[in-house]
Amino acid sequence: MELIVIWVVLGPLIGYAIGKPKGREGYGLLLGLLLGFIGWIIVAVMEPAVGYSNVGPQSPRRACPFCYEQIQSSAVVCRYCGADVEPVLALTAKGVPFGWQITAKDYQQLQEQSPSGVQALLVACVEAGYPSFTSARLTSAVTDVDKGRLSPKQAVAKWGR
Ligand SMILES: [Zn+2]
Repeated sequence: MELIVIWVVLGPLIGYAIGKPKGREGYGLLLGLLLGFIGWIIVAVMEPAVGYSNVGPQSPRRACPFCYEQIQSSAVVCRYCGADVEPVLALTAKGVPFGWQITAKDYQQLQEQSPSGVQALLVACVEAGYPSFTSARLTSAVTDVDKGRLSPKQAVAKWGR
């Protein structure tokens, strides 16, 4: 009897905890309940949901196009095979760039207001390894780049954290 209680309570709880960092908490709950520890293993080896990463929001990952090992999105050299790779833009689950603390709607608005400023800032952010921006600081950074007061790199250094 106690075993069943432990199974029903702990199964989904642990499944949830394993799935949560990867955006797979729903699967964790369900598989933990249905399959117990086998479910935990399935969730543990499951690919993260789009926009989620095992290594925290500040260092998004992608596969190296040459050796397929997971490397930093902002990397310019693969640390496994040594190939030169292009740094790529990584988006969060909400569709905004990593580190940008704005809503998808505000991001869209910013892009409409200043497509070239946003683009330039994005490239600088990828190169700087995804610094964190509040909404207000982001607007200041885009404005500075747009008006030519700062280079994108300088704007990232000034307004990013
Ligand atoms: Zn590689």
